[in-house]
Amino acid sequence: MLRRFQNYIDGVFEDGSASFESVNPASGASWAIMPAASEADVDRAIRAAHRAFSAPSWADLTASQRGKLLYKLADLVEQQAPRLAELETADTGKIIRETHSQISYVAEYYRYYAGLADKIQGAHLPADKADMEVYLRREPIGVVAGIVPWNSQLFLSAVKIGPALAAGCTIVIKASEEGPAPLLEFARLVHEAGFPPGVVNIITGFGADCGRALTSHPLVSRIAFTGGPETARHIVRNSAENLAYTTLELGGKSPVLVFDDVDVDSVANAIVAGIFAATGQSCVAGSRLLVQRGVRDRLLEKLVAKAKGIRIGNPQDEATEMGPLATKRQLEHINNVVARSIKAGATVLTGGQQPDGFGAGFYYQPTILSCPDHQVPSVMEELFGPVLSVVTFDTETEAIALANSTEYGLASGVFTRDLTRAHRLIRALRAGIVWVNTYRAVSPMVPFGGYKQSGLGREGGMESVLDYTRTKSVWIRT
Ligand code: NAD
Repeated sequence: MLRRFQNYIDGVFEDGSASFESVNPASGASWAIMPAASEADVDRAIRAAHRAFSAPSWADLTASQRGKLLYKLADLVEQQAPRLAELETADTGKIIRETHSQISYVAEYYRYYAGLADKIQGAHLPADKADMEVYLRREPIGVVAGIVPWNSQLFLSAVKIGPALAAGCTIVIKASEEGPAPLLEFARLVHEAGFPPGVVNIITGFGADCGRALTSHPLVSRIAFTGGPETARHIVRNSAENLAYTTLELGGKSPVLVFDDVDVDSVANAIVAGIFAATGQSCVAGSRLLVQRGVRDRLLEKLVAKAKGIRIGNPQDEATEMGPLATKRQLEHINNVVARSIKAGATVLTGGQQPDGFGAGFYYQPTILSCPDHQVPSVMEELFGPVLSVVTFDTETEAIALANSTEYGLASGVFTRDLTRAHRLIRALRAGIVWVNTYRAVSPMVPFGGYKQSGLGREGGMESVLDYTRTKSVWIRT
């Protein structure tokens, strides 16, 4: 018997106009029936959000009352973390240890935004006129259309729902058609927290109809998208219809630069976690290792041993260290890029294929490829899988050129004991995040986002809440 999930529109749980089956990546078998929102469903959800935006039950709440609702939501997320984690693991294959710890973090993000709701301020401006009082109001921007990809849907929606509600907006959020279970279930917590109907609407469906309808709708004033750059281009074209203010969080091909002076043991651990966590399906995965020649062999020896030691298994098992990829499409994509990379001269140091013994599950071995240069496909293209591509360099100048050589610019890592060199690299790297002697640290207080094709705008921090407001300039003759 397949489990059934529902959309949440205008405070009511309902089946979609159509439905589709969701596949458990660990077994390759269908496990749940998901609602597919049609264009008409999307239209109803946006109209509900539009009504709710100016309804007294939401528009007349004070900022701290909005904050209290968000605090309540955070508590519910924390209480329900084990259940949400289990669903995310079932629907995406992400291991239970990771889903559980990330969902606890999601609660912290909601708390952060809850605390900011009553700290949004306007300003009094000099304006250089003796007979005028001029001030700036900050008003919520309106109805938000949020779209998330299949990885980390609870987290990636929290950094949209949280600031939108703190600012006083209303939102329709589309869960990815791949792995929507945890976000659809989260709607029950929104309901329980007591948000008025229509303030938060959570639906799922396919990009071409549901996603397009959402991002081109005339009543949408703000689009917050996370996903791939190709889809982002569709979204920007869609938003030509409504001219909505749009932020884009896109892909990455993040370089990790390792210099000769490092302590190999601790760096090896950071690199392994940087690439193989979430089976490499993370936008900030440190997927390009740029290593200085003097430390290369010692480091690679450690990395290969660690990669071989990773325990692959059932993602619901606490002991498992790496689960399957989320979809068959991902598995095929990785097989394809690895095959092209080998043809282009890459050598497989470990992995490079599916492990035995996992039936029809979408598993892939932790893989390390030694690449002669940055023309190899696995060095330039985002794989979104457990594949680390290694390129060797001699000088700092060469390392910077390699690091900046892809179209992406999301995150980067620098490992060196030389602080002056680290500062030079921080200035030179074209990326939205530079981690020095660490990797993957995040906080709700710190902006997150990319350079180049990795995105537009930032999520996290106070700035991201202001991004859900617009200013109104008021002139008063005195
Ligand atoms: P995707 O772009 O294929 O899909 C993302 C979402 O867009 C899905 O919900 C999909 O239904 C929707 N969509 C597809 N076509 C659409 C259209 N024409 N109009 C509107 N919506 C449409 O991405 P994916 O494969 O699900 O996720 C992987 C990508 O997401 C990777 O590139 C990854 O790096 C990126 N990502 C980025 C971040 C970040 O914060 N920068 C975080 C996680 C993932």
